[in-house]
Parts: sequence; structure tokens; C-alpha cells
Amino acid sequence: MIFSNKYIDYSKKTKIELYLTLILFLVLSNKTIVSIGKKLLHLSLAIKLPILGIIKKTVFNHFCGGENINQSKKTIKKLGENNIKTILDYSVEGQDDETSFQNTFNEIIKNIEEAECNKLVPFCVFKMTGIAEFKLLNKVNNKDKLSEKEMVDFQLLNTRLDLICEKAKKNKIPILIDAEESWIQDTIDQLTEAMMKKYNKYEVIIYNTIQLYRSDRLKYLIDLHKKAKKEKYKLGFKLVRGAYMEKERNRAKINNYKSPINISKKKSDEDFNKAAKYCIENIDMINICFGTHNEESTKMIIDLMSEKKIKNNDYRIYFSQLLGMSDNISFYLGYYNYNVAKYVPYGPVKEVLPYLIRRAEENSSIAGQTNREITRMRELIKKYSNHTD
Ligand SMILES: Cc1cc2nc3c(=O)[nH]c(=O)nc-3n(C[C@H](O)[C@H](O)[C@H](O)COP(=O)(O)OP(=O)(O)OC[C@H]3O[C@@H](n4cnc5c(N)ncnc54)[C@H](O)[C@@H]3O)c2cc1C
Repeated sequence: MIFSNKYIDYSKKTKIELYLTLILFLVLSNKTIVSIGKKLLHLSLAIKLPILGIIKKTVFNHFCGGENINQSKKTIKKLGENNIKTILDYSVEGQDDETSFQNTFNEIIKNIEEAECNKLVPFCVFKMTGIAEFKLLNKVNNKDKLSEKEMVDFQLLNTRLDLICEKAKKNKIPILIDAEESWIQDTIDQLTEAMMKKYNKYEVIIYNTIQLYRSDRLKYLIDLHKKAKKEKYKLGFKLVRGAYMEKERNRAKINNYKSPINISKKKSDEDFNKAAKYCIENIDMINICFGTHNEESTKMIIDLMSEKKIKNNDYRIYFSQLLGMSDNISFYLGYYNYNVAKYVPYGPVKEVLPYLIRRAEENSSIAGQTNREITRMRELIKKYSNHTD
């Protein structure tokens, strides 16, 4: 595989940094430690133990840019020196009150303004649950009758969404809208499609996210393409496999409905690759951001780009990985002049904790991802030792 066999550590980590990263991923790979750690963390916070300092120096430091945009600038610069751009991701999750929705909205607007004056920030991103209540999105999804207050709240969500997209359009900064749990995703899709129709007439400003671990998503993508063709607007897609697999399967089991998730990893891989191929074959109408750490898919995409004579840095194609993961892919892509950007989460340590816990749980449950990082760190340490001995 190009990313490992001929792998050069473009990230230039020191030996100590490599060891610390290895230890971090070894801890994250252990489901029991992660599960006990989560409980201890909640307990420590409840009894006010000064645990946040430790979190900041370890997991937060590895996966996040800083507590605000300014603090994240060091990371943006360092990545930029390696031809890797940054997608700033205000990662305050799980807060369900009006003050926090307004704060997140303000932060997204600030992000668009930052991106406008910083060439190293090509996109902005947000989650619909950052600006509206999960319960509300779920009720709309189920077509339940809304109370008067809920109708006002839903109108407020529409207004906020439109203001974000309008600002993005005015400042020419594309916006990625994250995909979330399937029981609110129809609502997210409908809201996002309306924005694409309004703002993607001539250029792609709004991107929806397609989770290819869902068995119905390839068809959704193709159907939406047909619809957009007819209604004459362009599409932007972030393609991912999907982050909520265990939660989706458990909910389906408990509530006795068919899980929306593909029956196997192989099927998710096939759907991801088919979707990638479909988008590239329709590149005249679809801009794409590939959010993946999968080396086979990434290789398949760059081979296809070369076959179709699409330039490495064609503005319509971006690759993206999360900060602190799969540096081999990001630095390789940057080195060979592909458009690549890291998702750089930021926010106050305490408020980013739900994101970090999700990251830790995903790392411990999806063994492949963490094992990849562990193997890579071990290889690099070995190479480093051979080189310096
Ligand atoms: C830049 C970026 C943005 C992202 N944005 C989002 C987002 O908006 N919404 C979101 O949900 N996720 C998002 N993710 C996370 C993403 O969906 C994946 O969870 C993560 O990237 C791991 O998948 P992978 O493609 O990197 O590769 P791999 O490590 O090869 O694949 C792991 C993934 O395959 C799927 N999978 C694993 N086992 C099975 C199985 N038994 N059956 C079926 N499928 C299986 C799961 O989706 C799992 O996460 C994002 C990731 C990145 C890098």
C-alpha cells in the first residue's frame, strides 16, 4: 500500500512524540479501560477533581487544536507548512439549551469570517444538533405534531441555517453539514437539500454528508443527483462511512426494527467506493470531500482521478482526515499536492469532552482504526531508532 510501504514520516514527529502517541492509542484500543475511564472521568468531574488539566495535556492535545480559534492557529500553521489545510470544527456537543445553540451559531459565523481571511481554511463545518434540539429534529423526522414552542424553535433553526448559508455564499466559503443518527437524518437531509437548492445554483457552497455504512445511502445519493439535475442546482457531498454504528444497531435491536446499517464492513467499503466512483464520474455537477482514514479507498480514488485525467489539486475534490489520526495519508496527499484538510476540533476542554469520549469509544470499538495507528507508530519508532543508531 502506497501509504505504508513507501511510507515516509512527513509529519516529522520527534521520538518522544511518537512514544506518547503510541501509549495514547494503546490505551484507546482497550475497551475496558475506555469504559472504566469514562466512568472515572464523570466521577472526577462530579467531585471536582482537577482532572481537566490532565485531559488537556493528553487526549485533548492530541485530537484538538485548542480551546478557541486563536489557540488553534499554531496547528493550522504547522499543517499548512506541509500543504495540509484545516477545517475548524467547533466540537461542543451534547448541550441542549438555547444559550448554547446561539453560542454555536455565533462560533460558526466567526469560523466563516476566519476562513475568509485565511487561505489555509478552505471549508467550515457544523452539526445541525449544534444549533437545534435533538428532540425537535427527531419529532420533525417522525412527522409528529409540534407544539407551538416547537414550531417557533423549528422556525428559528431554519432562520439560523439560512443565515449561515447566506454568509457562506457571500464570503465564498463552502459549508460541510455533518451527518448524524438515522432517526434525525431525514430532517437534516431535507433542511440541507433546501439550502443546496437555494445556494448551489452556480457553484457549490453547501455540502451534505452521506454515511455509506447505511444500506440506503447509495440510492439516496443517486436519486438526489437526478433530482438536482432536473431542478438545476449543483451538489456537494462529504462521503464518510459513518460514526454511530453500535448506537444504530443497538437502537434497532431494542426497538425491534431492521438496522439501517450494512450487514458487513465489506458492504460498507463497497458502497463507499461505489459512491466515490459515482461522484467522480459526475464531477461536472458534484463537488466531493472524502472524509476517510481508509487507505484502500483513498488509493482507489487517487487512481481513478489519474485515470480520468483529473488534476491532483482539482478544486472539486478534497480529502479529509481527523487531527491526530492517519497522518500518513494526510501528509502523503499534501506532499503530492492533492487537496487535503484536517478536521481540527476545538472548544473549551470541558465542553469538548463528549466529542473526545465519542472519539475514544469509536477508537476502542472499531479495532481496525486504532490498530492501524498503533502499527504505524511502532514502525516509525523502529525506523527512527534504526536511523539514529
Ligand atoms: C473528515 C471526517 C469527517 C467525518 N464526518 C462524519 C460525519 O459527518 N458523520 C459521521 O457519521 N461520521 C463522520 N466521520 C467518521 C466516519 O464516518 C468514520 O466513522 C471514520 O472515518 C472511520 O471510517 P473510515 O472510512 O475512516 O475507514 P475504516 O476504518 O476502514 O472504516 C471503519 C468504518 O466502517 C464501518 N464499519 C465497520 N465495521 C462495520 C460492520 N461490521 N458493518 C458495517 N459497517 C462497518 C463503520 O462506519 C466504521 O466507522 C468523519 C470522518 C472524517 C475523517
